[in-house]
Amino acid sequence: MKFKIVSIAFLIITLTLLFFIVREQASVWLLVLLFVVYIHLLVLGSIFIQWNFYIKSIHSVSEFLPEAPIHHHTKKICLTFDDGIHPVHTATTLQILRNKNVKAHFFVIGKNIEGNEQLLKEMYQDGHQIGNHSFNHSWNFDLRSSTDMQKEIEDTNKSIQAVTGVKPQIFRPPVRGYQSQFSKGHSKNKHAQHGLEPSFNGHRRKIQ
Ligand SMILES: [Zn+2]
Repeated sequence: MKFKIVSIAFLIITLTLLFFIVREQASVWLLVLLFVVYIHLLVLGSIFIQWNFYIKSIHSVSEFLPEAPIHHHTKKICLTFDDGIHPVHTATTLQILRNKNVKAHFFVIGKNIEGNEQLLKEMYQDGHQIGNHSFNHSWNFDLRSSTDMQKEIEDTNKSIQAVTGVKPQIFRPPVRGYQSQFSKGHSKNKHAQHGLEPSFNGHRRKIQ
């Protein structure tokens, strides 16, 4: 939403400036300055996802776990693990969490599910929140088209749902930022966002 407002404002100011430049009542450098400011806003909006520049993101415990009792004088954290499922590290992590009776969030990569279905099942049965972390975790995810992004999200959702029976409610992109193509692909999927990277609407498992 902020991206659209900024872009419309940019367009209006550009046209206004052009009008005055043609009439030689303004310097062309103002147009250059405006362009530089606009590009900076696009880049910073992608880096500082807490700005919710392209899409609404969850980036605090109170937003992510609205049912958790949050007091101003206490500190709460969410444990999140990315890039699984790994046959050794994920198994070890699950065992430690089980021993300590701690629930966490796992953002799994779609292509890592095949062959590790049992671990994903254990993850779900242990009561952890399972999120979508794209299918391939490609370095250029942010630069892909909204259609490609949507496919990555849907393929991963299907793989997770095939094992757990539940569609993930949170998505975290494989690279830190978002951009306009992501917000298009995301909105088609009706997901909510996780701020450190993203998430989904609808069913959210209760975290103890
Ligand atoms: Zn990752």
